[in-house]
Amino acid sequence: MQFKDERLIPIFEKIKNGGNINKQEALHILHSPFPLEVAFMARYVKLKKSQKKVYYVINKHINYTNICISRCRFCAYSKDAGDRDGYTLSLDEILKDIASAGKRLREVHIVGGLHPHLRFSYYTSMLENIKKNFPYVQIKAFTAVEIAHFANLYGMTFKQVLEELRNAGLDSMPGGGAEIFSERVRKKLFPRKIGYEQWSEIHRIAHSMNIPTNATMLFGHIETEEEVVEHLFKLRDLQDETGGFLCFIPLPFHPWNTIFEGKIKKATALKELKIIALSRIILNNFPHIKAYWIMLSPQVSQIALNFGADDMDGTICEERITHAAGAITPSGLKENTIRNLIKKSGFVPMERDALYHEYG
Ligand code: SF4
Repeated sequence: MQFKDERLIPIFEKIKNGGNINKQEALHILHSPFPLEVAFMARYVKLKKSQKKVYYVINKHINYTNICISRCRFCAYSKDAGDRDGYTLSLDEILKDIASAGKRLREVHIVGGLHPHLRFSYYTSMLENIKKNFPYVQIKAFTAVEIAHFANLYGMTFKQVLEELRNAGLDSMPGGGAEIFSERVRKKLFPRKIGYEQWSEIHRIAHSMNIPTNATMLFGHIETEEEVVEHLFKLRDLQDETGGFLCFIPLPFHPWNTIFEGKIKKATALKELKIIALSRIILNNFPHIKAYWIMLSPQVSQIALNFGADDMDGTICEERITHAAGAITPSGLKENTIRNLIKKSGFVPMERDALYHEYG
């Protein structure tokens, strides 16, 4: 490619030689007025990692409760205990929900609020019963924030919590709750939630127990570009240390139904695409970068495949959290729709499970 943005030339040389870009170069990528040149560099990394393949999974989201003691200021989903809009799913409801997804289901993604009163057996028996009734399904469950909450509430160490959950059927963990690794932002937006130190500690322990995990970043609120870059560099260092991350998922903030409605606009598609490309370039040690269509929209996710993403998540069936924040995307997609979105972008759809085993 003939770069019009000459400052990208040495950056691309570094990328081609397998080197790590520095923070200044990362900021330049974000500022570059030539997004297609940025896309070209990110696609180069993607093609080296996963060739023309783009992954998707037949999955189901279970959001077991919206009652949460954290009440993060950006969250449109959580309720207080006793609130009439609060809900907690029973085990029967969860099993019925999963059964409704059919026999081709490969992954359940389970996350919820930090409930102050449930017993620990609610979670372990949830996992045990899912494994018993749907032995063909992998369980990706509980963010580091939920693990820290369980440890706190039930007087256990992080490791004890993870051991009990793994014995009950946990296969992998999602990457949520990371938000943005900045104490400045944490104090303003989610002061009761764990910060980077505990988030990274829990993922480190999970990786040491061979529980793979994902990682996320919530952007498009009050964070600075420097904080975005810092977040990505922290993850790259952590992955160099443990090697246990499977996928990184950048999540654009949805302001609707939050205190930021009318004050903050959702990130533009261009910003979302640049963040995906930057993630692919910085996190060259992460196997996969996901274009999460629920938050990006199917259309932007499709373009994101040419900005370095190699995963489109899945069918999902019934997503509640982003839809509480006003998402206008569907709450599920048919498998054929996902396959067509991938094919029409020039890539090859590859069905996967939670651990990225391929089902070609
Ligand atoms: S973002 Fe998560 S931890 Fe924070 S209030 Fe919402 S459900 Fe609770």
